[in-house]
Amino acid sequence: MDYSMTSILDVAKQFITQLVPRDGVAVDFTMGNGHDTFFLSQWLEEGHVYAFDIQEEAVKSTRKHLKEWGARENYTLIHACHSRVKEFVTGPIDGGMFNLGYLPHSDKVVTTRHKTSLAAIQTATEMLKPGGVLVVAVYPGHGEGALEGELVQRLAAGLDSRRFDSFFYRLLNQPSAPFLVAIQRKK
Ligand code: SAM
Repeated sequence: MDYSMTSILDVAKQFITQLVPRDGVAVDFTMGNGHDTFFLSQWLEEGHVYAFDIQEEAVKSTRKHLKEWGARENYTLIHACHSRVKEFVTGPIDGGMFNLGYLPHSDKVVTTRHKTSLAAIQTATEMLKPGGVLVVAVYPGHGEGALEGELVQRLAAGLDSRRFDSFFYRLLNQPSAPFLVAIQRKK
């Protein structure tokens, strides 16, 4: 992989490959065009990935891409809000990815919203197995993204340190650049 320190998605994927076992269960909370779903499907050779999106267009696009890219049949695509994750994923999870904001190359009408994002992150945190990890990519360059970012940081910073570790990765000399929050459940 051509790894870039400035790509928060590269850093996020690094956490996943270091901490999620290949027979694990992971959730892509924001499937979009399916790039992260595909990455998780590839990583989870003997595991399973569940992916959520509220836009039917995203589910269709992901389904098409996964076929085109030759993904293994280890995924379930769910057209629902990620805050409803527990209705569809009943067991604990090893990993989860949130890539907040707008669907790339779309008309930019639908973005993630802080209320549902926060609810989903809170639920996902409680679903983590010991040692499991959540990565949240935040785009503070637009109004809702800035608020969402602020609240995600606050949530992560307020987690019980006896049960979780939380991390913040950001380009210090580019304050409006995307940043990453990661949460690991202690073993
Ligand atoms: N991971 C995607 C990819 O690899 O192409 C990009 C994700 S995009 C930045 C954010 C996605 O979150 C959009 O497709 C949007 O429809 C979706 N989204 C917004 N609100 C949501 C919600 N409440 N539940 C699930 N998905 C949501």
